[in-house]
Amino acid sequence: MGWYKRRLAKSLWVFHVSGSPCNNCDIEILDLLTPKYDLERFGIKLVGSIRHADVLLVTGVFNQKVAPKIRKIYEQAPKPIFVVGVGTCMSGACCFRDSYNIVEDRQAVIPVDLYIPGCPPKPEAMIAAVAKLLGVLNARN
Ligand code: SF4
Repeated sequence: MGWYKRRLAKSLWVFHVSGSPCNNCDIEILDLLTPKYDLERFGIKLVGSIRHADVLLVTGVFNQKVAPKIRKIYEQAPKPIFVVGVGTCMSGACCFRDSYNIVEDRQAVIPVDLYIPGCPPKPEAMIAAVAKLLGVLNARN
């Protein structure tokens, strides 16, 4: 049995970290935990320590100051870990593009497996992405 199957045998635990966002994406992520969207019905819960996480959820752009800290958090994660980038900041730098201190190559900081576009993405889009992620993990061995 591959590690993905083993991970799916229990709830997926998610650690959320912000790079340098405007915080709207973070608020939408919190929305997922409200009774309206109830993300936990998929067996997914946010955890307070990266050392307990199966998934690293990242929002915001990476600037020169925050990039090494994000990398350090990634290095502390139990491997393998699935990295999800939430928002257009993660997929394309959004309104912060061309800022003087932006790290353009986010993949050089951490290997992102899945991007959820939108500024911010709607909770429904995040739930659809989570469902897709579970499908991808189920298909892998
Ligand atoms: S993608 Fe948009 S909403 Fe999300 S952090 Fe960036 S600017 Fe804010």
